Amino acid sequence: MELQVTTKTNQYPIIIENNFDKLLTAFEKTDLTGRKLCVISDTNVAPIYLEGIINILKGHFLKVVSYIIPAGENNKNLDTVRDMYEFFVKEQLDRRSVLVALGGGVVGDITGFAAATYVRGIPFVQVPTTLLAQVDSSVGGKTGVDFNGHKNMVGAFYQPHFVYINTTVLNTLPPREFSAGMAEAIKYGYIIDRDYLKYIIDNKEAIKALEHHVMAEVVYTSCKCKAYVVDKDEKETGLREILNFGHTFGHAVETLFGFKLIHGECVAIGMAAGLYFSMKRGSITSEDLKEAEEILRYFDLPVRAKGLETKDVFEQMFYDKKTKDGKLNIIVLKKIGSAYTEKNASDEEVLSAIKYIVE
Ligand code: ADP
Ligand code: ZN
Repeated sequence: MELQVTTKTNQYPIIIENNFDKLLTAFEKTDLTGRKLCVISDTNVAPIYLEGIINILKGHFLKVVSYIIPAGENNKNLDTVRDMYEFFVKEQLDRRSVLVALGGGVVGDITGFAAATYVRGIPFVQVPTTLLAQVDSSVGGKTGVDFNGHKNMVGAFYQPHFVYINTTVLNTLPPREFSAGMAEAIKYGYIIDRDYLKYIIDNKEAIKALEHHVMAEVVYTSCKCKAYVVDKDEKETGLREILNFGHTFGHAVETLFGFKLIHGECVAIGMAAGLYFSMKRGSITSEDLKEAEEILRYFDLPVRAKGLETKDVFEQMFYDKKTKDGKLNIIVLKKIGSAYTEKNASDEEVLSAIKYIVE
């Protein structure tokens, strides 16, 4: 399957396959072969997939080198970027050289950032290996690193030449990471595409069993949903805000739990709050809310943040970097498959949604 992502500045394909066989063909369709190429991966992904990728590509590039970063979000920082630049200089990578990000969101974000900045920008290709990176990070052109404990504080918008997704790499992904990706996939159903939500619910067993055809469909439709929004709003001014459904509540929970839960898990909890908020506004029914929690739970996602104080979550929400001028932006459903940003939610409404998830 293939999907074209259109942005203001360019267009690139997302290729979805169940192996790496067509990776070289994808490169050959660009003008990137015959150059120096550096594959960036992490210490978990490299032992499983790096050699296979290098074998496919070597012989078609001037030289193929690789650089492995330590796995984990706490290495997504400028120190790692500096080490990468040093390696690039040592390997004499130049403006024509190409980077390949082979890994999850961390590898994708940092490689994209290095690509955007090294000698003022070199081409890069994404080969996302987590479900989250496949359905979320591969569209939108956000690259960056954390700084002084602030997530994605330093970064750039920079688009890849193409994204190559092999859904079978999900077989080795830790189950929690898989579930976290499903939280974002389910999110698209609620905010953009009701039929897609139905598809996920109807095919939940096959998704859990990682059947290639359904996973390809999940990745394809998620990317299509995100691409639709991003296409209309590349620099996050209006429409794109709806992608933050569940995130304003979720980020607060994520911070307060001290990163005991991973991002997608907190988004699931945040969506429960957002759905409750939407129900209180009359946009969805209590059955809809129940169905949402059921599908999230089916994928082993939490929907409650027991142990947190309502007041703490509320205060934490104001620290979110997307909270503008001291006002909370709550993404609310109009109905299932459609959402809007509420900038004037009352404190009572927000507090009652938080109360719902912490009790
Ligand atoms: P995300 O994509 O959620 O932002 P990471 O890039 O941190 O997250 O990836 C999550 C974890 O899963 C990391 O420890 C990473 O090394 C590991 N990982 C990524 N892809 C795979 C895979 N296909 N198989 C096994 N482990 C993987
Ligand atoms: Zn998210």
